[in-house]
Amino acid sequence: MGIAIRSVSIAGILAVFTAATALPQAAAESSKGSSGTALSSPASTIALVGATLIDGTGRPPIRDAVILVTGERIEAVGTRASVRIPATARRIELRGRWVMPGMVDAHTHFMESGRIYTKPSALNLTAVVPYADEVEWIKARVPVTLAGYLCAGVTSTLSVGGPRLEYDVRDTARRTAKAPNVYIAHGPIVGVKIGHDFFPLIDGDEATRYVADGEAARAEVQRAATWQADAIKTGYVGGPFAADEERFFGILPGIVADAHARHMPVTYHVFELAPAKRAMAAGVDSLAHTVSDLVVDDEFLAAARDHHIIGVTTLAVWPREADARAGHVVLTPMESRCGDPEVIASWTAVKNLPTVPEADVREAVDGLRTTMANIKRMHDFGIPLAVGVDAGNLGLLHGASIHKEIELMAEAGIPAMDILVAATATAARVAGKESEIGTLERGKLADLIVLTRDPLADVRNLGAIESVMKSGVIFSEQELLPPRREP
Ligand SMILES: [Zn+2]
Repeated sequence: MGIAIRSVSIAGILAVFTAATALPQAAAESSKGSSGTALSSPASTIALVGATLIDGTGRPPIRDAVILVTGERIEAVGTRASVRIPATARRIELRGRWVMPGMVDAHTHFMESGRIYTKPSALNLTAVVPYADEVEWIKARVPVTLAGYLCAGVTSTLSVGGPRLEYDVRDTARRTAKAPNVYIAHGPIVGVKIGHDFFPLIDGDEATRYVADGEAARAEVQRAATWQADAIKTGYVGGPFAADEERFFGILPGIVADAHARHMPVTYHVFELAPAKRAMAAGVDSLAHTVSDLVVDDEFLAAARDHHIIGVTTLAVWPREADARAGHVVLTPMESRCGDPEVIASWTAVKNLPTVPEADVREAVDGLRTTMANIKRMHDFGIPLAVGVDAGNLGLLHGASIHKEIELMAEAGIPAMDILVAATATAARVAGKESEIGTLERGKLADLIVLTRDPLADVRNLGAIESVMKSGVIFSEQELLPPRREP
C-alpha cells in the first residue's frame, strides 16, 4: 500500500519534468507498413533518391537529395542535379521521407542491462536474482541488445567503461550485421578504490580501474592502447571518496597527455561544478553527465569554451533510475517498440520493492532540473552538446532510451537541429570517430536512418523510423524489432 502510494507520488513529481508525451498515433503507425525498402542484401552501388537530407553537420536540409552508397561507404551526397546516378545502381525511391545519419550514443555501459537486478549498489535484489546470474543474462542477451540499437536508429555507441566484457561486446558487434559500431572508452580510470560492494567483479575483472600514482596511470593507458580502446574514460567519484580524490588531480594531466599521444580522446565522469573545472584545466575533452550540483557559472562556461569541451547530456538517468526503483517507468513509443521486452518486464517483476527514500527522489528531481538548466546554458554559450543516455542503468534501455534523452533535451529548450547534431556529429567526436561516422558525407560509413516524418518539425518524429542502413546494408524496421517475450 505504502509502496503503491509512493510510486504514484514519485511518478507524479517526475512527470512535471519528464512529461512523457505520446508520439502522435500516425507517426507510430507509419513506421510499420512500407516493406518497399526491406532490402537486406548488400549491393555494389545503391542510390537513395528523393528524400529530404539532414546531413548531421547542422547545415540546412537538402530536398530531393541523392545519396550514393558503394559497399559500406558513402560515395556521393547532394541534390539530384549534382549527383550522377550510375545506370547499374540499385535505386531506392524515398520521396516524402527524411534521411539523416544513424544516431550515436556517447555514453553506454554494456556491463549493465537496464534490468531491475543490474545495479546492486542502487537497488540490491541479489536475493531474487544473484548478480552472477545477471551477468550471465547480459552475456547471453548481447545479440538482442545490439539489434535493439539499430531498431532505435542508433548505429554507433561509445561504451564508457567497465570490465573486459565491454570489449567482448565490441568483438561480437564486429561480426554481427544487426549491430551498431561499438567503440570503447577504456576505464573508468579512477584515483580511489571504490570497492566491490559498489561495482562487483565481472568474470574476475574490475569495473573501475584504480591507479595509485602516475606510473600506474601510464600503465593503464598503455593497456587501453594494447586492447585497442578508442578513447579513455576517467573521472571524479566524489561523495565519500572526495577527500581521497585530491591526489588524482595531480595524475590526471599525465593521463590526458598519454591518451592524446595515442589519439584517444578523454571523457570525464563528473556531476559537480568544482571538479569539472579542474578536469577541464587538466585537458579532458568531454564531460560525461556535465554538472548537476550547481548552476554553471561564467567561469565554467569560459573554461568549457577555451578548452573546446563537449558536454554529454545524460538527462534521462535522473528520472529513470528513481522511476525504476519505484516500479513505475513511463516509456516513449519508441522504447515500447524497440526496447528489450525482457528488460521492460523486469521493472514490474518484483513485488514489494523497498520504498525509495525521499532524499533520493529529491536528488533525482533536483539533478534533472539543474542538468537541464545547465545544458541549456552551455548550448546558449556555444558549448557543443553530445547525446549520452547512460544506457544500461536501471530503467534505461540500450538503444531505445535515446528517444527519452532527446525528448528531455527538447524540454530543456535545445532546438531540434541542434539536438540532431548532438545525437550524430558531436557524439561521434566524443568517441574520436568524426572521420568515420556522425555525418552523411563522402567517404564516411553508410550508417543512416530513413524517417517517414520530419524530425526538425518535432524530434519525437525520430521514432518514425522506416528503415535503417548500417555499413551499406538496409534493414526494414520490422526486421529489427526485438523478439516477443516468451510466455
Ligand atoms: Zn555512465
